[in-house]
Amino acid sequence: MRPVTVLERLSALGHEQVIAFQDPRSGLRGFLAIHSTRRGPALGGVRLLRYPSEPRAFEDALRLSRAMTLKTALAELPAGGGKAVILDHPRLKRAAAFEAFGRIVEGLGGRFHTGPDVGIRAADLEAVGRATSHVSRERDARLGDIGQHTAMGVSHALRACFEHAHIAPRGARVVIQGVGSVGAWLARILAEAGCRIAVADLNAVRARRVAREVGGEVLSADRALTAACDALAPCALGGVLNPRTIARLKARIVCGAANNQLSTPGDALRLARRGILYAPDYLANAGGVIRGAEYELLGRAQSWRSLERIHDRMLQVARLASRHRGSTHAAAESLALARVRAARVR
Ligand code: NAD
Repeated sequence: MRPVTVLERLSALGHEQVIAFQDPRSGLRGFLAIHSTRRGPALGGVRLLRYPSEPRAFEDALRLSRAMTLKTALAELPAGGGKAVILDHPRLKRAAAFEAFGRIVEGLGGRFHTGPDVGIRAADLEAVGRATSHVSRERDARLGDIGQHTAMGVSHALRACFEHAHIAPRGARVVIQGVGSVGAWLARILAEAGCRIAVADLNAVRARRVAREVGGEVLSADRALTAACDALAPCALGGVLNPRTIARLKARIVCGAANNQLSTPGDALRLARRGILYAPDYLANAGGVIRGAEYELLGRAQSWRSLERIHDRMLQVARLASRHRGSTHAAAESLALARVRAARVR
């Protein structure tokens, strides 16, 4: 069979542009994908990862940038979606590489605005910032804590899930998988709302510290997905929801911050068929992006009220999915794509 060409992939997923970049002096190699700028500049972090192959990095950039378009459109932000991925390797000269990457971002003249993602340190963003102003660096006190904003957004989505599933939040048992920057905030916010919290983290010290702080329980990391609970909040890695794990879930709701929780879109239907209400990740975890975009693009002093609207969006998506007997993932995606199509081409 003839292999699929690059342009065929772009047209299948609806991308505007993909840039392959390299800088031999620093060892920089990667892809920058702009999925859509119809609603505004493409927002998307830069990810540094040791990819098993170049095509895997390319596909990651395509998939993640499209998810950013869905996220910004659902969040009603005047922004689109993009993403950059850099192939990590032992000879990468980090500071020079990120500065070279910054020059590529600068060359796009504001069509793409970047920030942190997996594998990125503060010093990397400082290096990007030496070449471009189109980068968020999270060292501005006025911006606030992005992890906290993301967690607050997840808590609003979960509130809507509880409402749709007729579960009282007070006394509901919530298992949080991963209590890093977002999960720890989520534990605090939900404990304050009266939920009973159980946490699991590969870092046992961290899990104990958070559990003690919120009066919760610690689960071993391998039990997080199968523990009986009202809601499971994946706040660690992507790909946690697959045919094997979905069959063993004992949660009534899945609502967390982790990106790309579904291993394939078909997993959303598997969850629906098991009667598990799934909060699409790009809807539930948009709090950080909402704060970043409102601060950078709109100059807003705070975004707490905007985050509350995640509750209404989640409820709308849950009701749409029930009405069409489909998945919440499909309902959220069709809402987001309709918003993108309705935008005037800029
Ligand atoms: P983090 O690195 O601060 O925390 C992740 C935690 O998960 C760590 O404590 C780690 O030890 C733990 N962990 C990893 N694998 C685990 C496993 N198998 N079982 C249990 N614990 C495990 O990351 P974060 O910033 O809190 O982000 C968490 C997730 O949310 C990521 O998927 C991220 O992409 C996504 N996300 C984060 C933000 C944000 O604002 N930080 C925004 C949107 C989405």
